[in-house]
Parts: sequence; C-alpha cells; structure tokens
Amino acid sequence: MPELPEVETIVNDLKDVLPGKSVTGIDLFWKKSLNVTPAIFLNKLKNKKVKTVRRRAKTIIIDFGDLFLLIHLKMTGQLVWRDKNNLFSGGHPIVGAGMDLPNKFTRAIIKFGSQKLYFNDVRKFGWLRLLDKKELAEYEAKSGLEPLAKDFSYAKFRAVFQGRKTKIKTALLNQTLVAGLGNIYVDESLYSAGIRPLRLITDISEIEWKKLYQSIKAVLKKSIKYRGTSFSDYRDAKGRQGNFVKYLQVYGRYEKKCFKCGQAIKKIRLGGRGTHYCEHCQK
Ligand SMILES: [Zn+2]
Repeated sequence: MPELPEVETIVNDLKDVLPGKSVTGIDLFWKKSLNVTPAIFLNKLKNKKVKTVRRRAKTIIIDFGDLFLLIHLKMTGQLVWRDKNNLFSGGHPIVGAGMDLPNKFTRAIIKFGSQKLYFNDVRKFGWLRLLDKKELAEYEAKSGLEPLAKDFSYAKFRAVFQGRKTKIKTALLNQTLVAGLGNIYVDESLYSAGIRPLRLITDISEIEWKKLYQSIKAVLKKSIKYRGTSFSDYRDAKGRQGNFVKYLQVYGRYEKKCFKCGQAIKKIRLGGRGTHYCEHCQK
C-alpha cells in the first residue's frame, strides 16, 4: 500500500495539473469504486472547479470548494493522468498492463475535457468518494496526527501513546494515533531512532521518544524528496521512479549488512508484518 510519502508525491503531481479544471464526464467500469452514480457525480460537480489537491493520511483529496473527491488507493490502486503534455502515474505499479489506457484494471475515468484521470485497481479495494464538507470532516476525524503538519508537536506526539501498553511498532502502525505510516516508514523510523520494533511503549525513555519524533519527520521528508519508494522497475512516462529505495536502511534488507555497524539485518514477523531491524544498533 502506498504510504504517506507516495501519496504526497501523487498529490504534488496532481497539484500541477488539476486546479482550475472542471469535471466534464466520468466512465465508471466498476460500480463499487464510487459511492454515487455517475449521473449524481456529474450533476453535483457541474460548474465546479478544482480549487486544490491535498492529502489526509493516505487519502488524496481533490477539493472543489464545498465538495471533495476522495481517492484511496489501498493495496493495488493506481492513478494515471493523461493530457497533451503530461502522462504520469502514481500509486501501485500495475504489472503487465503497461501504459495501455484504459486497460482491464481501469475502474473509472474522470474526464476534464480532453484530459483524463484514470483510476486503475487490480484487486478493487481502492475507492473514490464524493463527500460534502460535513462528511469530509467526519472522515478526517478518524485519522490520527499528521506527522508533517506544522502543529505536529512533540507534546501531541507523546500524548497519543499515553496509557497504551502495546509494542511500539504496533502503535506506530495504528492510523488513529499517527496517520500515514506503514510498514516501510515505521521500520525505517525505528532504526533511525535506535529503538527495536518489539519494545513495549511503557519501556521507552523520554530521550528515545524525542529521537523517534525527530526520526519520523526526517525519514518522511527525505522520502518525499525522492518521490517515495517503489520496488519494481516501473517508470512513468517522464522516466521517474520513487528513488527512496536506495536510501532504505533496514526495510527489504534482510541479511544484508547494517550500514552503521556491519551486522546482518534481522527480519521477524510482528502482527503478520515482516519487520526489519538491526540487533546491534537498535535497543
Ligand atoms: Zn547496526
């Protein structure tokens, strides 16, 4: 699943092309991908222009002022934008489908005149939802702190873990506490902070919490700088790929040497997730 940096990268790309545009049509190939019928969708968005595009947790929000189109890519979703000058995609690479559009995994095409946004999704867990302001507020309230928001303070970060007794990795994956972190960035942040994923929250010292708080922000920022992490050879039409994979310290590096100490990176299962860490550098 794309995590915060990958979704942020898509949002930044869409910000370059969507604001000021109006929806002129929609082809819906899989009914359940959208929460309203195409007729209602078009009727509601008639004469409305995209104001901006933003991200909340792992959700893309296309803001039409008083209406909002939310897109969640889940396990296999992909967005592809195509106009005269641009062709780019974000989210999950769809192996084998190439850049043929639409393809058998295309669930919806949103048209902005001759320009099109394709929503492809192999396993159909992803979704599009058109919400009003109240519904959006309810949706956003379910997610935890935004680790890159200006008001993401150490005090707030520390407070969400208060009274909890789980392992630190489990808590960091909990989207209602801190939003947008998944398996990759939790493993990387814990390595950077020198904390083992299995440690209990109650055992973590104040100094370690502070390190973790800084590590999460630094790891996410660096990943966004490199357009996130992509593991396949997939490239978009501009030849771009998420390059953060080169900077991963532990994730996907099982049995490889730790860059700091040279010991082999360990891999264990934690709540069904492959979990990577260095036994020497993380306490
Ligand atoms: Zn090490």
